[in-house]
Amino acid sequence: MYARVIVDISNDAVDRVFDYVALPDTMVGMRVRVPFANRTVLGYVISLSEETSVDKTKIKSIIANLESVPKIKPEILDLSMFLARHFFLRLSDCIKLVLPSCVRLDTEREQTEYVLSTTYDTDTAINIIGKRAKSQLSAFLFVSEQGEVKFSTALEHFGRSSINALVEKGILLKTPVRKRRMPSVDDTPFEKKTLTPLQESAVNTIDGKDETFLLQGVTGSGKTEVYMSVIDRALSRGQTAIMLVPEISLTPQMMQRFNSRFPGQVAVLHSGLSEGERFDEWDRIFSGEARVVLGARSAIFAPLEHLGVIIIDEEHDSSYVSESNPRFDTLDVAEFRARYHRCPLILGSATPSIKSYKLAQDRKYHLVRLPERINGLEMPKLEIVDMLNEVLDGNTSTYSRKLLSKLDECIQNKKQAILFINRRGFASFVMCRECGHRVKCDDCEVSLVYHKEDNELKCHFCGKRYRSLTNCPNCHSTNIKYGALGTERVCEDLKQMFPDVPIFRMDNDTTRGKNGHKNILEQFSKTTPSILVGTQMIAKGHDYPNVAFVGILDADVSLYNSDYKANERTFQLVTQVAGRAGRKNNDGYVVLQTYAPKHYVYRFASNYDYESFFDKENNLRQATAFPPYSNIIRILVSSESDHRAKEVTKKLYDEALKLKEKHGHKIFFLQAMPSPVKRIQTKYRYQILTRCEPDDKITCDFYAISDIIEKDVSIFVEVNPNNLR
Ligand code: ADP
Ligand code: ZN
Ligand code: ZN
Repeated sequence: MYARVIVDISNDAVDRVFDYVALPDTMVGMRVRVPFANRTVLGYVISLSEETSVDKTKIKSIIANLESVPKIKPEILDLSMFLARHFFLRLSDCIKLVLPSCVRLDTEREQTEYVLSTTYDTDTAINIIGKRAKSQLSAFLFVSEQGEVKFSTALEHFGRSSINALVEKGILLKTPVRKRRMPSVDDTPFEKKTLTPLQESAVNTIDGKDETFLLQGVTGSGKTEVYMSVIDRALSRGQTAIMLVPEISLTPQMMQRFNSRFPGQVAVLHSGLSEGERFDEWDRIFSGEARVVLGARSAIFAPLEHLGVIIIDEEHDSSYVSESNPRFDTLDVAEFRARYHRCPLILGSATPSIKSYKLAQDRKYHLVRLPERINGLEMPKLEIVDMLNEVLDGNTSTYSRKLLSKLDECIQNKKQAILFINRRGFASFVMCRECGHRVKCDDCEVSLVYHKEDNELKCHFCGKRYRSLTNCPNCHSTNIKYGALGTERVCEDLKQMFPDVPIFRMDNDTTRGKNGHKNILEQFSKTTPSILVGTQMIAKGHDYPNVAFVGILDADVSLYNSDYKANERTFQLVTQVAGRAGRKNNDGYVVLQTYAPKHYVYRFASNYDYESFFDKENNLRQATAFPPYSNIIRILVSSESDHRAKEVTKKLYDEALKLKEKHGHKIFFLQAMPSPVKRIQTKYRYQILTRCEPDDKITCDFYAISDIIEKDVSIFVEVNPNNLR
């Protein structure tokens, strides 16, 4: 028998399958050790065959099978092949996506612990122990009552000598069991709700169908309850479920809700786990013990069998597309798995992406709507404040009069407020007023951000830190100007305005560490009145009943981003942030500060009018030929050597021009240029940008011309990237 094997080497030159002589127990999906160019490497068996085209005298044999049960299940193997084809990835990179490294490379193992149980009835045991050994007697009675006690617990309570004596006498039986490292979860029960007729009908429409659904429901319309009911029904048929959320570590509430509804059945997979936890959670899924997987993007690869539903919550979120190699779009992967298992895929959002909503209009997705908040609650009133008027009236501060009065009212009423500003740190840049010098990172072509708490300047691209300055490094002037304010500064201002009110900050700086987010949110939820200041992290799915006021300090930052998704993203952001207010009582109020009060994004967002926003934006995309009416393909070339990067860009551009000739009018934009951020982490960056008809043949051609190996240069192709920096 011959095995076709993918070798675990990230190199385009070996990105194919190699034939080996199989061992007697070799199975498809197994990890194996194989000889390869004078060394031994890890490999994955993708098929077995009686035939081989390799010369029988030259073919080598597998050295060892690394497991008895294949770690890659048949569907996951098919999925890997799909990933390679669909996203133009190397086969070995696809295996890396579907098998976490702790499993793939055996860097973690199962941990065992011991438990104690009893063998004798009480009278016999007392006879053997004797009445004088009090400690041994109580230990025995304790274990006997409990049935089973952890060895470590028993040692703690009764001491090593008593326990060992009991074990030696054979009165207590010491047996090894598998120890699970579990991520911590809040186990406060979360009451199961009786569905409203609208929720009920959504569940009935979706359950059991081999279709993709777009569940559009305003914030607080009860989408999560719908998800859980669909999962419930799948589980009762013996099926399993995957539920993805953008950043599970940001939403401890979601874990609590799932654990309470499906006790003992939920596994979580996200970047915040320790390696040991990840290994154990993965194994609980692999072995079939956990039947519901809750996680971030990569949880879509969870090795569940008999999937009954896949859910992608907040489907519009940009985190579902990975931005580094191996690049993939979670929605496409989910679609593959759902069709494989003939089960529903639910894409949920209050503000679907333009792409998904268009697919729903074209009847490729089945649209299901939940247009109202639960319990007849209204959406919070959203007021737009024109900041130009403030300036003209003499208020040059960052806070409009309306915002301050509403915030004050909220605090007086002993409620909670959320202030949103999408910039962390204290000031966005540091500039000399005399000579105009801006302080930049040594390694990146970006301004440094001032962080007052650490009294440092930080690069938000590479994380490098610099000592803060009191005078200009260029002309030594002390006349330093600080740029637009960030979360740190807002907190400082608020402390002065509301000295008695607890203020919490949630951004990348305050949420380091394992339970960073959870701790802040827990404290905030328990404190009234209080104010939470944060970046877009605060926008995601939190459900706190006492939040009455939301202030959006500066949405224009996002609106004036110069990429085609800026409008879409701003609409989503405003709607999500506003949706945190008034989730229990009809007292929600939102103030949005802007210099563009008439912009249609804000106009439609203030009425929660997604459909009108979609119509306008969709027409614009069509008229200007932007996605989903075209594909944007970007080839990013980067290198420590500016010269080499330019040289390779030139070479690729010449190839691209040939493609333009080949495809004619189907490619309507093609340009080579420096990337908007010219240097990141010491690498110079150039890009070739194309806009073309959404045609797989063209995409394929662009991947093909980029598939070259150039010394000291990396080449990265993206289709419809989220970020064009
Ligand atoms: P979404 O996911 O759309 O934001 P949720 O599912 O979180 O909405 O629901 C919003 C709030 O309404 C939650 O506090 C939830 O417990 C509550 N809720 C949802 N469905 C019901 C229902 N059928 N009856 C009572 N309360 C409900
Ligand atoms: Zn930097
Ligand atoms: Zn200067």
